[in-house]
Amino acid sequence: VVQVLLSIFLILALIGAFIYLLWTINRQNKLALLRKSFVNNMTHELKTPVATVMAALESIQRYGARDDKEKMEQYLRISHRELEHLANMIEKVLQLDIDEVTGVNLRRDPIDIVQLLEEGVEIAQLGAKKNVSIDFVGSLPRLTLVADAAHLKNVISNLFDNAIKYSGDTVKIQVGLKEEAGMVILSVSDNGHGIDPIYFKDIFEVFFRVPNGNLHPVKGFGLGLAYVKQVVKQHRGTIRVDSVLGKGTVFILSIPKQ
Ligand code: ADP
Repeated sequence: VVQVLLSIFLILALIGAFIYLLWTINRQNKLALLRKSFVNNMTHELKTPVATVMAALESIQRYGARDDKEKMEQYLRISHRELEHLANMIEKVLQLDIDEVTGVNLRRDPIDIVQLLEEGVEIAQLGAKKNVSIDFVGSLPRLTLVADAAHLKNVISNLFDNAIKYSGDTVKIQVGLKEEAGMVILSVSDNGHGIDPIYFKDIFEVFFRVPNGNLHPVKGFGLGLAYVKQVVKQHRGTIRVDSVLGKGTVFILSIPKQ
């Protein structure tokens, strides 16, 4: 009997090891594919503004020789806009150094979360090229949270940016904030394109972007939510998503107050 049990155990262990191996290979393959599409995206995204600025500089030189101030200013404006775009993209990639977002180097300062949200709203609306309304649901409780302000600000910006990017021309964002059992619960909902529930887990993975066959050709690297999740995790919090295709999406963050 002992021998039979031992054999069964060995066989099960072998099957388990084999399944684990397959799973690991599958995961590695997936990651390699995601990485490849990231590098492709990235190369393309970085090349475009650089080429535009180079062309604009040539034009400035040309119009400068003719003393055409108006044209020179126009191309200066274009250069400025493209460089700003480039700087934003670099900032996104730098943020991704999420291994750096560890509990060790996380700041723990008392933060006025409402103020942080209000700043986030201002920045999001300023940069948006759409008609964006961001409203708070009900009256906001004045909540103080012990957290890392810079990272939390980035988290809020990422959620607002996504809500705007993955929506039509009229964007309605609703922000909810409450305290429950020592946790701060923050929700950001939009009336955008929505996410198929089969991707709810994947969207938090580095480099993952929902494949939509260019239905909504939106630029991005698939880094934002991986960063958001990492920051929330380092604050001992959780994040979850709910969404209905064609209706909208809500992200719900829950972070301990202390
Ligand atoms: P990026 O926006 O650069 O692609 P993210 O990590 O921020 O990267 O998001 C991952 C993917 O999740 C996006 O490509 C998009 O498909 C989906 N997504 C994120 N936020 C939303 C949202 N508010 N509405 C619809 N889809 C979203």
